[in-house]
Amino acid sequence: MRVRTRRGTRDQTAPERLAARRLHPVSGVRGDIEVTEEVCDEHELPHLLVTDGDDDDDPWELGCPICNYADYRERQAASEVEDLDGVGAKTAEKLAAAGIGSLDDLRGADVEAVADEVQGVSEDRLREWQAAANASAAAD
Ligand SMILES: [Zn+2]
Repeated sequence: MRVRTRRGTRDQTAPERLAARRLHPVSGVRGDIEVTEEVCDEHELPHLLVTDGDDDDDPWELGCPICNYADYRERQAASEVEDLDGVGAKTAEKLAAAGIGSLDDLRGADVEAVADEVQGVSEDRLREWQAAANASAAAD
C-alpha cells in the first residue's frame, strides 16, 4: 500500500501527513490510498479514496479516516448479548438462563462454567464473545 496525493508530486501538507500517519485503522485494506481535496470539517483531515490501481473506476470513498474509524467502532460495538456475532435469539436465551443476561454479566463470566452449562456453546466461542464485550466497553 502506498499513499499518494491526487496532485502528483507536490509535497504533502500537514493534514495530509497526519492523515497518512493515522491510517492504521484501515491498514488492512488492499490497494492504494488517495488523498482527495475534500476535507473533514470536524477533524480537518482530507477525505481518502481507496483504489485498486490507476484504472479503478469504482474506488472506495473512505472519507475522513477518523470519522471512518469512529463509524467502524460504532458498528462493532455491541450493547446487548444478542448483538454479538453469532448469538441468535435462542443462544441469548440459553445464556440468560445460565446467568448471562447482559454484556456486563458476560465480562465477569466464568467461561468454563458457562460452556459447561450452555449446550452448543464452546469455551472458545464464549471467550470471543467476552473479548467483544470487553471491546465494546472500551469503546464507550
Ligand atoms: Zn472527520
